[in-house]
Amino acid sequence: MGTPANSYWSAVVNGLTPYVPGEQPKLPNLVKLNTNENPYGPSPKVLEALRAEVGDALRLYPDPNSERFKEAVAAFHGVTPAQVFVGNGSDEVLGHTFLALLKHDQPILFPDVTYSFYPVYCGLYGIDYESVPLTASFEIRVDDYFKPNGGIIFPNPNAPTGCALPLAEIERLLQANAGSVVVIDEAYVDFGAESAVGLVNRYPNLLVVHTLSKSRSLAGLRAGYAIGDAGLIEALSRVKDSFNSYPLDRFAIAGAAAAMADRAYFEQTCRQVIATRTRLVADLEAMGFDVLPSAANFVFARHAERDGAELAAGLRKRSILVRHFKNPPRIAQFLRITVGTDEQCVALVGALREILG
Ligand SMILES: *Cc1c(COP(=O)(O)O)cnc(C)c1O
Repeated sequence: MGTPANSYWSAVVNGLTPYVPGEQPKLPNLVKLNTNENPYGPSPKVLEALRAEVGDALRLYPDPNSERFKEAVAAFHGVTPAQVFVGNGSDEVLGHTFLALLKHDQPILFPDVTYSFYPVYCGLYGIDYESVPLTASFEIRVDDYFKPNGGIIFPNPNAPTGCALPLAEIERLLQANAGSVVVIDEAYVDFGAESAVGLVNRYPNLLVVHTLSKSRSLAGLRAGYAIGDAGLIEALSRVKDSFNSYPLDRFAIAGAAAAMADRAYFEQTCRQVIATRTRLVADLEAMGFDVLPSAANFVFARHAERDGAELAAGLRKRSILVRHFKNPPRIAQFLRITVGTDEQCVALVGALREILG
């Protein structure tokens, strides 16, 4: 009896395949290495800025343009505020980018193994795409993107592989694709890859997207930004002002601006994560894992003899969470392991030793 709930749904919603985020379970003593959060807390200056926002001013709307945050991003990267767009996490920035800059007649291009939100945005906005296979060593080969397209997007370093592309290759891609927008999602760039931000003044078709969730330890605040030619930024602002005028609240604007201003804390925590990653990779290799070269705050590794899903399940039993992707089949034997503190990584390595016997 009764009407099925989805009979009220629009055709668009009936056709959606939403993104599935990594779990956020509330278990005690969990070693959480599944969603690439930073193991260190945000800068003390961020906490101070957040406390300063608690007060009567919360009855007023925030600045719709988040100027304080934009100016801090511009100062950090040596660009102008007109070259900066900010949003409620880089996922929102990416969502607006798909609608504003990647929806054209030709299909857009992205790798077959990449951030799994990209095909979700394509589904939401009705954008055709073509996935371009990574090489046998899981790398992006720029020449594979030299064909007609409605735009190109990939993370650098790529996710979930962690592999970085040199800046010279990105420049070659930009030169060969002057007619379409190239989006470089630099969610993990601060952990060891070269940023393309320095190219935005020379390439009006380049958009570089950053998040404060990883290298600035603020996944819980929801803040991200894009840097590009003022013309691209205007397109993003048009979408934002047709959707939600106030995507960043007063806390997010103040905290994000303070995070961008504290360069020393940011550099120090990134260095710590990179040092731990070096030790983790050595430990995993000593246990028989094949680890892809990582320039990110995670490693992508498979064991020569043991099944990836079984290893992930064995770790879970020991209260250690890592991410395992069943699809595409090409990566089903890999584990994506976030680089935690030294202590967390030692716990992970100990548990794997036990499982491997
Ligand atoms: C984490 C991540 C994002 C999203 O970051 P938020 O700012 O937290 O929305 C975007 N792209 C890639 C590749 C990521 O891994």
